[in-house]
Formats: sequence, structure tokens, C-alpha cells
Amino acid sequence: MLRRVLVANRGEIAARILRACREMNIETVAICSEADRGALFTTLATRSVCIGPASAAQSYLDQQAVLNAALLTGCDAIHPGFGFLSENAEFAALTRDNGLVFIGPSPEVIALLGDKDAARRLAREQGIPVVPGSQGLVGDAEAAEQVAGQLGYPVLLKAASGGGGRGIRVVAEPGELSSQLAEARAEAKACFGNDDIYIEKLITAPRHIEVQILGDSHGNQIHLGERDCTLQRNRQKVIEEAPAAAVPEELHQRMTADALRAARAVGYENAGTVEFILTPDGEYYFIEMNTRIQVEHPVTEMITGINIVREQIRIASALPLEFSQADVRFEGHAIECRINAEDPAHGFAPCPGTIEHLHLPSGFGVRVDTVAHPGYIISPYYDSLLAKIIVHGRNRHEAVLRMRRALEETLFTGITTNLGLLYMVLYSPDFLYNRIDTGTVERNLDTMLGALKEEVML
Ligand code: ADP
Ligand code: ADP
Ligand code: MG
Repeated sequence: MLRRVLVANRGEIAARILRACREMNIETVAICSEADRGALFTTLATRSVCIGPASAAQSYLDQQAVLNAALLTGCDAIHPGFGFLSENAEFAALTRDNGLVFIGPSPEVIALLGDKDAARRLAREQGIPVVPGSQGLVGDAEAAEQVAGQLGYPVLLKAASGGGGRGIRVVAEPGELSSQLAEARAEAKACFGNDDIYIEKLITAPRHIEVQILGDSHGNQIHLGERDCTLQRNRQKVIEEAPAAAVPEELHQRMTADALRAARAVGYENAGTVEFILTPDGEYYFIEMNTRIQVEHPVTEMITGINIVREQIRIASALPLEFSQADVRFEGHAIECRINAEDPAHGFAPCPGTIEHLHLPSGFGVRVDTVAHPGYIISPYYDSLLAKIIVHGRNRHEAVLRMRRALEETLFTGITTNLGLLYMVLYSPDFLYNRIDTGTVERNLDTMLGALKEEVML
């Protein structure tokens, strides 16, 4: 079993991992930037090391600084969390080459699946349906126009190395293609250091359904069912649920089998997620695979009782999974809301600041993953995710009612958050009756913001 783990992340996910290690009697090292010195997550570790200035490039993304911290403190493994270095194959290789365990899949698998075009090819070869699109990367605008013409507009231009909803452009008609392609390439180059682009047909009014996978180093691969992450804004998830109530049993069988086929094709080890788009007609297409712990993993934990971070650490310790597919049971329904420090009334601009007072929900069936406290400073340097509120109920209806009351109990003062907007979504009939698609939040944004203004809830 791993003895000492360095957690190469910050905020709530660092706390999530540190807590799991603590329960497993594993020593921990937290790293932090100067902006995070003394932050709550660092106090949950056995010890902490400041590795650089506030800017992520000089701290959480500085591969050598992170590695040095692990080596100098005698760690035997690094958990990357999500974002930052979590899907960086070069860093996973650097970790391994220095004799440490990277808690995630191998650098080769990260590199293969991190190229979303290569992942599409892999899925196609396995007979898994992929979104109709280009066979490989697109060359110049002329070649792109030819592909898009055959597919029919609208299409999506996607950065092969994209993530976090970035590097994606909608092209509604042929006239826009060449300018959008240039912009997509520039954005991809700036964000991901790689300007490879591929094309997919834009699926109308889809749901986002994903399958959680676990694979160990003994050849066992299982799934932990679906999550429905359809409620998004700007291609980023806002509310997630498990199980996916819109996925009937027969579809569940096919989607989980396809997800496992993708995982087995690469000998997937550790936790991973296979993402699909589901059309209103019940057809589904593979879109990508994420080779890390996912933000929304708690909803799966709530309905399976499986601690996914603990399993990641056991798998990285070369232990076999303690349960088989048949042992995995799904109980009840879970919903997660992401509380972000952002201003929905002003284009969702990030809202750094200091929390004055807060009240977090609790009680039967409520879980809160956060490191927020009065006096907590939300830094302008990092992601705006502030807290995840997760509820579990016997069924979806009970979970919805529970989330409503959990949001009603939640209070942040001194900063602006998306809490009011989440509340509006929870009270919308479309959400209650599960008549949603990935455009629901954006289509209803003005109405919801208007109502919030009236109620002075923002
Ligand atoms: P999930 O699929 O787990 O919901 P998100 O897409 O919300 O993940 O991204 C998780 C976090 O990681 C967010 O903080 C996001 O900003 C960040 N992130 C995801 N992909 C990348 C990437 N390729 N580069 C940098 N940050 C990323
Ligand atoms: P990222 O790597 O940034 O997570 P994804 O390929 O997973 O990018 O796409 C992000 C989101 O964009 C998806 O969750 C989905 O809502 C939407 N999306 C992606 N591909 C399509 C598509 N072909 N048609 C419609 N929506 C899509
Ligand atoms: Mg995705």
C-alpha cells in the first residue's frame, strides 16, 4: 500500500483526496502556491510545502516544482486531482521515471485518450458509435468545408487536445467556417499548445451521459453506472445526477458495455470516465474519455457507496478491486450542484473576494465538498468552483426536494455566486420532470435572471 501521497491540487478536490488518504492511514503532503499558504486544504495534510508564486504556471502547473516537492518529502505517489496536471502525459511519465507512482492511468493511455481525435478512432475501431464527423484531423479551410458540407451544417470544430469546455466552436453555415477555423486554431494553440482540430456534427438538443469506469492492474474492469450531466452552461457542467433517469435499462446495458469496451481496448487502469451524447431519439455517440477523477464523481459515490478516490489509491497500490461488477448496486438517486464564485447577471464573470459569512446545508442525505469558511479568500488566479452540494434520496423526486431545501439553507455573504440561478433551475418544471437538454440553462437564462432580480436573490 502507498505510504505517503503528494496531492498536486488545491481547493475542494485537494481536500477530498486528503480526507480519503487520512481514512486509509496514508501520510500526505499538500502543495500550495503563495496565494494558498495556510489555506484550509493544506491543514488537512500531514505537512504542506509552498512550491511557487500564485500564478498556476509557476506553481500547480510547474511539473519540476511539483515533482521536487514529492521527492524531497519522501512521497511514493502523486495524486493529480482534476484540471492542472491531471491529464498531462508528460508529467505522468516524469513522475514514473523518477520512481514515483502517478495515481491515474499510464502516460501512454493518457496521451492516447487525451488526443480526442485518436480516442474517436479507437472508439470507432471498437464498434462504438461516434458522432458523425471528420475521419481524423482537418487540414486547411477548404478541406474542412468539404467535410462540413458532407455532414451538413451546423457543425462543431473541436480542439483535439481540448478540455474544460474550451476549444469548441459552432459553425452554423459555410460562410463562417474559415474564420471560425482560424479562431478555433488560435484558441487551441493558446490554451493547449496544440492547434489540431477535428469536426463533429452538432447534435440538436442532446443529453450528456457519462459512464464511470474503474480498472485495476490485474485486468479487472468494471463500470459504476451512468451520470447525467446534461445541465451545462458554455459546455461546462452545472448540475449532475446519478443514475441517469433518462436512460432505460436496455440503453444502460449497451452504453456501459461500450464504455467498458473502450476501457478494455487500452487496458485502462484507475478511474476514468467515458462521455457520450444522447440524442432525443435515443441514439448515443461517444465523445471523449477523461483519464482522471471527475468533478461530479460524488453522485456516483452516493448511489454505489463506493469511495472512488479510495479505489484510485488502492489500484495505484497494485491491489485488485475488492468487488466485481455483480457486487455493484445502485441505490436511490443523487444530485450535485456546483456553487461557483461567479456573477450570472454579468456574463458569469469570476468573482474573487472574501467570504464574510456562510452557512452550509446539512442534515439527512446531504453532503458538502468544500473548503470554504468565513474569511476564505477566493483568489482570482484559479477556477471559480467554490463548493459542491450533493444530496441523496430514495428516488429522483425526493432528491430534487432535498436539493431545493439544501440550497435554501445555503448562504454566502461578501461574494457573488451562482446560488440563485441553481435555485431557479431546481424550481423549474423542466428540471422537475426531467425534460432537459444541454441547451436548457442557456435558453432560460434571461427568464431566470429576470425572476431573480425581482426577488432580489442574486
Ligand atoms: P468534469 O468533466 O470533471 O466535469 P470539467 O470539464 O468541469 O470536468 O473540468 C474540471 C476542471 O478541470 C475544471 O476546473 C476545468 O477548468 C479544468 N480542466 C479541464 N480540462 C482542462 C484542460 N485541458 N486544461 C486545463 N484545465 C482543464
Ligand atoms: P471537453 O473536452 O471540453 O469536455 P467535450 O467533447 O466533452 O469537450 O464536449 C463538451 C460538451 O459540449 C459536451 O458535454 C456536450 O454538452 C457538448 N458537445 C460536445 N460534442 C457535441 C456534439 N457533437 N453535438 C452537440 N453537443 C456537443
Ligand atoms: Mg468532456
